Amino acid sequence: MIDAFMQSPAFAMACQQYDRVADFLNLPQGERARTKVPRRAFIVTIPTRMDDGHTEMFTGYRVQHHLSVGPTKGGLRYHPEVTLGEVAALAMWMSWKCSLCGLPYGGAKGGVTCDPRQMSSGELERMTRRYTQEMIPFIGPHIDVMAPDLGTNEQVMAWMMDTYSMHVGNPVPQIVTGKPVALGGSAGRREATGRGVAYLVNRTLENLKMPSEGSRIVVQGFGNVGSVAAQQLHRFGAKVVAVSDYTGGFYNPQGLDVNALIDYAATHKHFGELKGVGDRITNEQLLELECDVLIPAALERQITEKNIRKLKCRVLAEAANGPTTYEADEILRQNPAIFLIPDILCNAGGVIVSYFEWVQDLQSFFWTEAEVNDKLYRQLETALHQVLQFSKKHNLYMRDAALALGISKIAHAKQLRGLFP
Ligand code: NAD
Repeated sequence: MIDAFMQSPAFAMACQQYDRVADFLNLPQGERARTKVPRRAFIVTIPTRMDDGHTEMFTGYRVQHHLSVGPTKGGLRYHPEVTLGEVAALAMWMSWKCSLCGLPYGGAKGGVTCDPRQMSSGELERMTRRYTQEMIPFIGPHIDVMAPDLGTNEQVMAWMMDTYSMHVGNPVPQIVTGKPVALGGSAGRREATGRGVAYLVNRTLENLKMPSEGSRIVVQGFGNVGSVAAQQLHRFGAKVVAVSDYTGGFYNPQGLDVNALIDYAATHKHFGELKGVGDRITNEQLLELECDVLIPAALERQITEKNIRKLKCRVLAEAANGPTTYEADEILRQNPAIFLIPDILCNAGGVIVSYFEWVQDLQSFFWTEAEVNDKLYRQLETALHQVLQFSKKHNLYMRDAALALGISKIAHAKQLRGLFP
């Protein structure tokens, strides 16, 4: 199985991160493979009737990384470049993130290799329902719980919840999180990842004694995570000077009207035709802009050996999963001018509120958005505090500190359970 994963640069990168931290933690060699390598991986073909009548065969994946402390948990991604190895890497990062934040989950991730932007709503619905049907033997509210990720949203979760519920014969809202509130979703889940990013950025600016008001923010990716992070920071008085989507971005040193961009993106789907809001720039140029906070919120492996030395930010807030390659990270860790909020901490708000949603569904007892946000901030504050303390105590780079906390708790849980049989 590992050979199939290894073809993905993202998986190799997750393994390199793990190995470095396992050395620091001095984990026994015999235990390492057990805590590193994903436990289960499923590949399915998804025959889908397209609008023109032909049947398209999509490939779908689900990887469940570790099963030691609770069900597995993780998003479902629709993107043309999804591979088994990428999904495995994302599942590993989910494990370490859940563990860092004290959530009773192992990590998982799913994906379908498709281009959702080229598909009609009907095609997406049929593909989603068939993927869910193929996954039924391997998922369940106490086995594996999915959520939205790149290219998926509340509507996709609603179709999944309906498909699973029709199979069981009664409504099972707790089979997915990130679904609409009308179906048992949690208040504040849709905004949770971006809200968490904005909270951690503000706390970091405070720690660095930099004012958040007027700070210059650059955001790559203007989907769920990027747009909400930009909106929250704009609300707190920051100046969002550049944003982008897959078609490229805009730069305006006076600050962009984030709410108008959100309205535009909701109706036009992308920025391709938009004019008059600032200078048109490429995604590569955006990453190199002078700013206080750079927030990559799109795909992994955007910050590489080629552009890392050209970054001109004070804070790098990794809202996306794995946006910085291992090679770029080797250079970043030597550069004290850039403070890193590592991905498994930075974007943890999403899974934290997914956990709240799951708990609310299991109890059929729902919280207000104010309660959700309050609990979210408390949990993020604890995680941030732990990472900062650990980093200070051991003189460790922020990424290593976050990973060490996450990985050590999993290793400890596995050790306590022992090896069956
Ligand atoms: P999304 O599909 O809502 O938005 C993705 C955005 O990135 C879109 O604006 C898209 O146009 C843009 N994009 C795609 N390819 C790009 C490219 N090559 N260059 C620049 N922009 C590009 O996805 P999302 O849910 O906002 O997820 C974004 C990232 O955050 C992903 O890495 C995801 O794994 C991570 N994440 C998401 C959640 C969540 O709750 N949705 C939670 C944790 C982490």
